[in-house]
Amino acid sequence: MIRFASLGSGSEGNGLLVEAGSTRLLIDCGFNLGETKARLARLGLDPSDLAAVLVTHEHEDHASGVARLARRYELPVYLTYGTLMALGPDRAMLPNVKVIDGHTPFVIGDLELHPYPVPHDAREPAQYVFSDGDRRLGLLTDTGDSTPHIQRMLSGLDALVLECNHDLELLMNGPYPPTLKRRIAGKFGHLDNDTSARIVGGIDCSRLQHFVAAHLSLQNNTPDLARAAICAALNCAAEWITIATQREGLDWRDVS
Ligand SMILES: [Zn+2]
Ligand SMILES: [Zn+2]
Repeated sequence: MIRFASLGSGSEGNGLLVEAGSTRLLIDCGFNLGETKARLARLGLDPSDLAAVLVTHEHEDHASGVARLARRYELPVYLTYGTLMALGPDRAMLPNVKVIDGHTPFVIGDLELHPYPVPHDAREPAQYVFSDGDRRLGLLTDTGDSTPHIQRMLSGLDALVLECNHDLELLMNGPYPPTLKRRIAGKFGHLDNDTSARIVGGIDCSRLQHFVAAHLSLQNNTPDLARAAICAALNCAAEWITIATQREGLDWRDVS
C-alpha cells in the first residue's frame, strides 16, 4: 500500500509526503524549518522519520526549506543536476546530494520513483510517479502544458495529484501585472483548470482511487471552479475531488 499527504500546496509553499512500507519521502519543502516540523507533526511525523527529500525544481515554493531541513536531519536530497545548480548558496549546505537523471527510474527503500521532465520555467524540472511495485501515485504540478510523454506517464494511475493553478478568466481579469499573467498562463508556466481537465480527459483514469487538485492560486482560482472542471472531465461527483490547500495541505490518503 502507498499512502500520501500534503504539508501544504500553492505558491507560498509545497511539500508532499509519500509512504510505502517503512519508507517515507518528502517531495519538495517550501516551508521554513519550524513550519515544516509543525506541519509534519500535524500528520503524525517528525523530520527524522523521513528517508530522503526530493526536489522537483528550484522555485522557492518548492525548495526554500530543503537545505536547512536536510542539513539538520542529515537527509539525502535527490534532484536533477540543473535543479542542484540552480539552488545557489543552499547547495553547500546539503549533506548528501543524489543527482538523478530526469528520465531514469530509481529506488529508495520500498518506493520506486519514476521521474519525468515537464515544461516549466526552471532549469531542469522533474515531476514523479511513485510506485510500491503494485499501486501507482502520480504527481504533476508546475508545468505550463502537458506533453505526449506526460500523458503516457500518468495513464492508468491509482491516484493523481494534479495542479489546477488558475482559472484563465480570473487570472486575466485579476490584479497581477501583465508580465506575471503572461508567465503564469504561458507554456512554461502553470496549468489552468481547463488544461488540467484536458489532461485528465486524455489519460486512462479507470483505476483512479483519489484525485487531488493541487497548487491552486488563492488569487486566481477557487476550489469550486477547479472541482467543476475536473468533474466534467472525470464524470464524477464534485465531492469526490479533494483539494490540497495552502494552509491545511491534505490529510493522509491510502492507495490500497
Ligand atoms: Zn510551485
Ligand atoms: Zn515552479
